[in-house]
Amino acid sequence: MAKYTWTCEQGHEPKSFTVEAENDDEAVEKLMEETKGHVDEDHKDMEDMSPEEAKKMITSSWKKEE
Ligand SMILES: [Zn+2]
Repeated sequence: MAKYTWTCEQGHEPKSFTVEAENDDEAVEKLMEETKGHVDEDHKDMEDMSPEEAKKMITSSWKKEE
């Protein structure tokens, strides 16, 4: 299991989300689930983002700990 942390700091104080997953695919699915509430609440503009764009946004800036 690896630990993945993604920090959102777009227009607010940094907010971190951490999940544990076996691989990157699983991690991105879990992080999208984990951040859904936050995005719905604070990032109305991101709601139109396609799943592909959202994945790219998360995987480009996450931190992975083995
Ligand atoms: Zn945010």
